[in-house]
Amino acid sequence: MIRFEDLLEKVRAYSPDADVELLRRAYVFSAFEHRGQVRHSGEPYLIHPLAVADLLADMKLDVVAIAAGLLHDVVEDTLTTIDRIRDLFDPEVAHVVEGVTKISAIRFSSSEARQAENFRKMLLAMVDDIRVILVKLADRLHNMRTLSHLPEEKRTPVAKETLDIYAPIANRLGMSKVKNELEELSFRHLEPQSYEALRIKVDAKRRAAEGLIDRLTDIIETKLRDAAVPFVEVSGRIKRLWSIHQKLRRQRIDLNQVYDFVALRIITNSVRDCYAALGIIHQTWSPVPGRIKDFIAMPRPNGYQSLHTSVIGENGTPFEVQIRTVEMHVMAEEGIAAHWKYKEGRVSDHKDDRALQWLRQLLEYQQEVRDPREFIQHLKVELYPDEVYAFTPKGEVKVFPRGATPIDFAYAIHTGVGHQCVGARVNGKMVPLRARLRNGDIVEIVTSAGHKPSRDWLNYVATSHARYKIKHLIRLEERARAIDLGRKMLDKELRRFDLTVKGVVETEPFTKVLNENGGSKPDDLFAQIGYGMLSVKQLLSKIVPADRLNEKAPEAAVPTTSRRISDGTDNQIKVRGSDDVLVFRARCCNPIRGEKIVGYVTRGKGVSVHSATCSNVINLLYDPERRIDVEWDKGEAPAASYPVKLTMKLEDRKGMLAAVSARIADINTNIKNLEARTDDDQCARIDVTIEISDLKHLDTVMASLRGIEGVLDIERGR
Ligand code: MN
Repeated sequence: MIRFEDLLEKVRAYSPDADVELLRRAYVFSAFEHRGQVRHSGEPYLIHPLAVADLLADMKLDVVAIAAGLLHDVVEDTLTTIDRIRDLFDPEVAHVVEGVTKISAIRFSSSEARQAENFRKMLLAMVDDIRVILVKLADRLHNMRTLSHLPEEKRTPVAKETLDIYAPIANRLGMSKVKNELEELSFRHLEPQSYEALRIKVDAKRRAAEGLIDRLTDIIETKLRDAAVPFVEVSGRIKRLWSIHQKLRRQRIDLNQVYDFVALRIITNSVRDCYAALGIIHQTWSPVPGRIKDFIAMPRPNGYQSLHTSVIGENGTPFEVQIRTVEMHVMAEEGIAAHWKYKEGRVSDHKDDRALQWLRQLLEYQQEVRDPREFIQHLKVELYPDEVYAFTPKGEVKVFPRGATPIDFAYAIHTGVGHQCVGARVNGKMVPLRARLRNGDIVEIVTSAGHKPSRDWLNYVATSHARYKIKHLIRLEERARAIDLGRKMLDKELRRFDLTVKGVVETEPFTKVLNENGGSKPDDLFAQIGYGMLSVKQLLSKIVPADRLNEKAPEAAVPTTSRRISDGTDNQIKVRGSDDVLVFRARCCNPIRGEKIVGYVTRGKGVSVHSATCSNVINLLYDPERRIDVEWDKGEAPAASYPVKLTMKLEDRKGMLAAVSARIADINTNIKNLEARTDDDQCARIDVTIEISDLKHLDTVMASLRGIEGVLDIERGR
């Protein structure tokens, strides 16, 4: 068990003038608030916040983070409020505690929509103050270390959430030490049998492997000394069980076939010594082609730097060697936490931080997408990065997630280059824009002035940056078109009353409608008309003086531009949450009352309503943002009837036509049109258009017609 005095010693050792009083007050307060509470292990609860604070001290974080670690569960698990923490402690401490409390309340194993929202909350808390996630990671790490005290059914969800969310976040923040331990512990609890079986197998090989590591370490040290390459340390280790497990599963191989079961590490004082050491290694053993990775020249997106190579040992055993400087080593182990050592202050002080840039881009993107599925999909790519390195013709390196295309590359150079990108040469050859980039590709983007991105591109991009820029431009262009269309529609109708758009935009009624619709400038209203969210008719009734409006006959007041729409305009369908939208039934499927329907916001024609089974609806799904909930108006009885065309196939015999029309008349249904003919296959066909009030009515008619002897088939025309 950790003693508070030991914790203070630890903090003083790296930060001699730390505010020890703050820590002492936090400790006493936490002890008091958690008094009487016990952990699942049966130990006093206080052990947990103390252990979390100790982990934060191991990361050499500032006193604000450590005090927040001591207090992190007070608001969640006791009656204390965040306001009380704010009264008693530094506002920064309260701020971090509040952030951790919020994140702790999130359950990630929820629906995608909730998950997306939860991620957003977490990202916001992280961007706001990165210490929030550092405390949360320490909290999760200690909980994972003590997970076996929890009842079995509670372990799995915690371990799964750790593996799916917290380990990848630690990875993205470059904190490999924390990430590795979280992964190992999750593996142990999620797949206890596989874990145990692998542990036993690895243990059997451990003695031999440790002997090998000792020999290799000796050889490397001797060679480096002989070549006068200075080094700080040479060490070796057996790979972690989780990474071996993944490798076995991915490559479907046996433990004996695992490549680089052991890994050696050389730590030097300078980058030059790193490359010199790499040379020595390659002189001593044969490198495996394609396994040399220079993460010094091309750091990973999370900032990781190192040289990696795999070589073949004397008896054919391959092993991996990682070479890096002391600074790189600290960054590799501690990631973003390393930036917080000895430092005070907000995240905004660290503008250059890669991890924070990444967070900001994610948030920016998150604000742009409304479909939670898309966001989660995207987040998975971002959280589990498998990166690709490509070069500009001048040799500048760009890093992308796997699956990136020349379009991503173009946007990585400049937004303008992205928008105007029409083609790409990869390694000197023209390739399609959707081609996947590979490591080492030299990419040259071909642009054409005035070119604009297409919606298709969204299917080919892998980076949030490109996606955001494309969506943003498409939206701007669509809005420009909607404004133009809306203005034209309005202008045309106004002319009927000898008015013009210019003349009305300044008037009070127009401003009033604008305010009512949440717009701030005339363009906002034009756009609403153009998008079909507001009908010209309704707008006219509010802005044309009543006497002028009445001068015209009622028919004439119907806007001509929307006449083709008003054919099908339907006041029985309501857009959920809005009465002010022009709605019409789609011609392709002519949905009738009672059918399941979906709405789609067209450009400038209002909301078209389709039957949920309409094949066009499936094609509309490509743009979920335009989908809108619609429902049949429940209020009034159906006054209107819908023409529905039925195509019947019948035996060709006398009296059939009479039987059909009599049956339709029997159930009080109007026939609008009827055509009979004999087809080549000697069957009779009748096309009949009848007036139907709702789905139930249609079902009755169809069932009744099917009951006529000699009727072979009836289909509803689309
Ligand atoms: Mn906790």
